[in-house]
Amino acid sequence: MKSTASIGVAIHPNDGADPEELVRNADLAMYKAKAEGGNAYCLFAADMQARARSAMSLEADLRMALANEEFVLYYQPQFDVATNAIIGVEALLRWDRPGVGIVGPGAFLPQAEENGLIIPINEWVLRKACADARLWQRNGFPAFRVAVNMSPIQFRKKNVPLQVARVLSDTGLDPRRLELELTENIVMQDIDAVANDLRELNRLGVSIAIDDFGTGYSSLSYIKKLPVQRIKIDQTFVRNMTQDPNDSAIVRAIITLGRSLGLEVVAEGVETSKHLQGLRDVGCEIVQGYLLGRPAPFEDISPCIPQVAWRLR
Ligand code: C2E
Ligand code: MG
Ligand code: MG
Repeated sequence: MKSTASIGVAIHPNDGADPEELVRNADLAMYKAKAEGGNAYCLFAADMQARARSAMSLEADLRMALANEEFVLYYQPQFDVATNAIIGVEALLRWDRPGVGIVGPGAFLPQAEENGLIIPINEWVLRKACADARLWQRNGFPAFRVAVNMSPIQFRKKNVPLQVARVLSDTGLDPRRLELELTENIVMQDIDAVANDLRELNRLGVSIAIDDFGTGYSSLSYIKKLPVQRIKIDQTFVRNMTQDPNDSAIVRAIITLGRSLGLEVVAEGVETSKHLQGLRDVGCEIVQGYLLGRPAPFEDISPCIPQVAWRLR
């Protein structure tokens, strides 16, 4: 392993009046250099202190949120275009933050990935999603999958198949009802290790989807190396496909690619009937988006499940 140096620079008197303050601020700058990949130097900037303070207070609030069970899952349905049937729901994390209200994952997940809290948070997501899916099954809803988004940190730090097996056995959920969504950057971090984990998950009966397909690494060789069952076309391509012929061509190419590799293709971000028609025309099998159903809490989505399919007609 190669040793590298990360350097933080604080300059007297602007960045600190005494040695303690200077070293503290140089430290902050060094952590920024490290966070950006290391082997670099970084100059202290005045907003670093404020940022570090707000990061620390967000971290403390996230710990409280875990302890006080302030996280909630919203579910968004996915439909089969041909049969109009609901074939799955995607679990999407929300934080019911005291004094603030419902907060989306973009506001706190990047920080949770940095401070490692993503591990217990996503463990909670997995457990809750499996327990809810089991409840739907018990209540006689049609057999559909629940999809859980995974973080790269989990694959780096945890034995994911073991964790998933444990949660499935604790909740009693049929493994065929669980899908894990991985982004291309998870897959690429250590392709052989991830491939082993995915094979293990497939053996359990759990299926795998590649999320935001087409936005990450452009290497397509991984897709044939990995035991993946579905690809989800990123919503930016779907959003623009009705105006931009390039996006429309990309959507068509992904569908053809998926079909020839024997993978199911899901389009996300379907917002208008034009999107839906366009996707139908190019033979897309599964759709998800605001047109068909916004993410909603378990209680709100449960009564709708038998009826929502009419929206596709
Ligand atoms: P994603 O997995 O690609 O999820 C799709 C995002 O698009 C969701 O945003 C969803 O609410 C939004 N969306 C769905 N349909 C439409 C539509 O028609 N139009 C538009 N404009 N947006 C639509 P959300 O819930 O804010 O989640 C953002 C991202 O956060 C997710 O992207 C996923 O990468 C991540 N995420 C969410 N929950 C979890 C989780 O439990 N664990 C991890 N690790 N990541 C999560
Ligand atoms: Mg997703
Ligand atoms: Mg996505």
